[in-house]
Amino acid sequence: MATSDFQQLLRESALRVTRPRLAVLGAVHSHPHADTDAIIRATREELPDVSHQAVYDVLRALTDAGLVRRIQPAGSVARYEARVADNHHHVVCRSCGAIEDVDCAVGAAPCLHPSGRHGFVVDEAEVVYWGLCPDCSAAGSEPATTSRGRA
Ligand SMILES: [Zn+2]
Ligand SMILES: [Zn+2]
Repeated sequence: MATSDFQQLLRESALRVTRPRLAVLGAVHSHPHADTDAIIRATREELPDVSHQAVYDVLRALTDAGLVRRIQPAGSVARYEARVADNHHHVVCRSCGAIEDVDCAVGAAPCLHPSGRHGFVVDEAEVVYWGLCPDCSAAGSEPATTSRGRA
C-alpha cells in the first residue's frame, strides 16, 4: 500500500495523520505478525528518532481504531497485523514461534459453533492451531510443549 492509502485509512478512522502513525501502520503492513520490537525497528528505518513509547502509543491507537489487530498466542509476546475484520485464525509453531494466517475453518464468522453457548450470542471464534512449521519439522525438532501450558 502507498502512503496515500495509509493516510486514507487514518482519516476514515477519524485519526489525525501523523508521521509516526503512518510509519507504524506501514511497518505493520509490511511485517505481518511482528512483535513490538520488530515494529519499532521497522518504524525507525523510516523515522530514526521515534521513541519506544511513541510506537506503543500508536499501536494502541491503531488497535483501538480497528486498523491493526493484536494477537497473543499463549507463551508468545503480543504480535500485530494489518489483516483485520475477517475473523481469520492462526497456526503457530511450537518450536520457533512462527505464525501464519489460516482462513476461516468454514464460511463466515463465527466459522465454528460451540456445542453449548451458555446463553451467549456468539459472533466470533478465535482459533490457534499449534504444530511445527516446515523448517522446524524438517530439522526434526521436538515440539516444545513447555512453551505453553497444557490445556
Ligand atoms: Zn518453527
Ligand atoms: Zn493473521
